[in-house]
Amino acid sequence: MTEQTRVGIVGAGPAGMLLAVLLRRAGIECVVLERRDREYIANRARGATVEHRVVELLRRHGLADNLLRTGAVEDAVEFRSAGRRHPVRYEPLADGRSHYIYPQQFLVRDLVDIYLAEGGDLRFDTPAEAITDLTGRPLIRLADGRGELRCEVVAGCDGEYGVARSAVPGSALRSYDYQYDYAWLSVLAEAPPSSDCVINALHESGACVHVRRTPTVSRFYLQCGRQETRADWPDDRIWKEIGIRLAVDEPWTLHTGPITATGTVRMRSLVCAPMRYGSLFLVGDAAHIVPPVGGKGFNLALADAEELALGLIDRFTSGDHSRADAYSDLRLARIWRAQEFVHWMMDLVNTPGYGTPAAAFLHRVQAARLARLVDSPAYLAAFLEDYVGWW
Ligand SMILES: Cc1cc2nc3c(=O)[nH]c(=O)nc-3n(C[C@H](O)[C@H](O)[C@H](O)COP(=O)(O)OP(=O)(O)OC[C@H]3O[C@@H](n4cnc5c(N)ncnc54)[C@H](O)[C@@H]3O)c2cc1C
Repeated sequence: MTEQTRVGIVGAGPAGMLLAVLLRRAGIECVVLERRDREYIANRARGATVEHRVVELLRRHGLADNLLRTGAVEDAVEFRSAGRRHPVRYEPLADGRSHYIYPQQFLVRDLVDIYLAEGGDLRFDTPAEAITDLTGRPLIRLADGRGELRCEVVAGCDGEYGVARSAVPGSALRSYDYQYDYAWLSVLAEAPPSSDCVINALHESGACVHVRRTPTVSRFYLQCGRQETRADWPDDRIWKEIGIRLAVDEPWTLHTGPITATGTVRMRSLVCAPMRYGSLFLVGDAAHIVPPVGGKGFNLALADAEELALGLIDRFTSGDHSRADAYSDLRLARIWRAQEFVHWMMDLVNTPGYGTPAAAFLHRVQAARLARLVDSPAYLAAFLEDYVGWW
């Protein structure tokens, strides 16, 4: 059976759900296809750092109520190096702007609840298998012979490993890929946060980052070798190494607790350009990936989704294609700036030359960069502009 809709949205992550809510509210018919079930996406723990600009974006559309009510304001970041703490308060440079800590899955849950309550069409357990006819009226074929969806536009919001990007002919899409020569072990623990802000610890053995998630849950990242696996990191080694890398020469308590999830995060940057081919638009991780340093990935995904929504609203309500036509160029300019910032921050936080004889030298250069950051108000202001996100 072939169904029809105006906008077919593949993926109910942050990008797909924000796009769906905004289109539906503007009266534009859309269908969201999600390969996982509702329970899964509402509990998939990933990012939590919401930058200032995205808080404002959600507030503008009346979608920030839960975030503002239950999220935690983050107005500082701490660096550690050689046993010393370097707390950085956003004020007075940030002029009242801050991060919020609100787990990504909570926001996805909010958007799903709103979309369904407003009568939206969202189909869980419905993987898209292929997208064809991209230069005309695209067709989404569902897996397991479950039918087809004919659309005017398809938004590929299906993340790093979805089907949308691979639907574009190779000759029409350029991928800019960068692989760092180390990885991060991500650790989610039932442990109260040991700090009220993100800690980025520079250490000759590798970085350690601590991020609070909720009052009872903390996340840690440990820089590690690309070949290392969970088997190399039994729980006692994880806690010992976190203790070593976060250590400071003053009283401080590391709260530990049961480790509930671990994963190896490949440190990869990717940009695919253009973010549009015919009637297919790529949105969020389907088009670009940044490593988690600086917490930009889901913020970029939400900003893409808003821009595309506004472009499609113009197109479908007044026949004005100009904003949707400018989507790819506009977003790519933003994404490259974010890539530049994250690349810089990766070198600030992670020990370059990890595991090689060059590491000792490079670690001292890294420490000098941190000293410059915390000593120079001008350098710090430029950092905060990108980190907190108000440029
Ligand atoms: C450990 C970790 C920590 C992170 N921390 C941060 C952070 O602090 N701040 C930040 O901004 N970012 C962070 N990120 C990045 C962030 O999670 C992603 O950038 C964000 O999820 C991108 O959103 P998206 O909607 O583009 O894609 P996704 O969230 O990946 O959503 C894609 C959706 O598409 C669905 N899908 C895939 N294929 C199909 C198909 N064929 N058919 C139908 N549905 C499909 C998937 O099931 C999924 O629901 C982190 C990521 C990780 C892994």
